Amino acid sequence: MKIVSTEGFVVSTTKYGENSKILNIITKDYGLIGVISRGCMSNKSILRTVSEKFVYANFNINYKANKLSTLINADVINYFQYIKSDINLVGYLTYLTELVDNVYKQNDSSEIYNIFVSTLLKIEQQLDPLVLTNILEVKFLDYLGIGLSLDGCAKCGNKNIVSISHKQGGFLCKNCYDNSGFTNKNALKTIRLYYYVDINKISELNITNDTKMEIDNFLNHYYKDYTGLYIKSKEFLNNLKRY
Ligand SMILES: [Zn+2]
Repeated sequence: MKIVSTEGFVVSTTKYGENSKILNIITKDYGLIGVISRGCMSNKSILRTVSEKFVYANFNINYKANKLSTLINADVINYFQYIKSDINLVGYLTYLTELVDNVYKQNDSSEIYNIFVSTLLKIEQQLDPLVLTNILEVKFLDYLGIGLSLDGCAKCGNKNIVSISHKQGGFLCKNCYDNSGFTNKNALKTIRLYYYVDINKISELNITNDTKMEIDNFLNHYYKDYTGLYIKSKEFLNNLKRY
């Protein structure tokens, strides 16, 4: 056991004993870990407010690899006040949290943590939550083992692209075209940008509604048919998106 300090985000909590909780935290340095927050449900506990789902903080913990660690204390980094003040944005927060938890269970790359936290911080800065969610979804596909081919035709490598395909998992040229995705040129260009953009460097997002919808639909189907993940909170989000 050693005392460590790491940045992290609480993805879920479960009650433990009389007045304690186990926090499931995705961390920058130690992957997804379980941490006991002892006595945090008592009113006087200094751990009370930091032992909740969606807390983004620097956590000081007694760390045990592959076992439950113990929380010592935590300093909140961002309260996500803007997100939490809006029911729709809480819908996004809930979905992104459920998704990152599932992706972490398949792959513990620290890049997953970085993509997730950068996305939340940009939503908190009031940038378009749907576009940011789609950017994260495109990037996460790599960690789910079904990354899209976006640098040429997924079948033959030809650079002359006319569509994107669910079935082939990426761009297709005229000869390989299979009618399973979309052909909108702007959307093709934009989904590639989504994949390559550094989320931390985004300062504005000017994407037309058509392009947004085209990409969002594509990703919805691709996630549904090929990831094997069932994300409960996606239903709520899809209902919100019927503008
Ligand atoms: Zn081709």
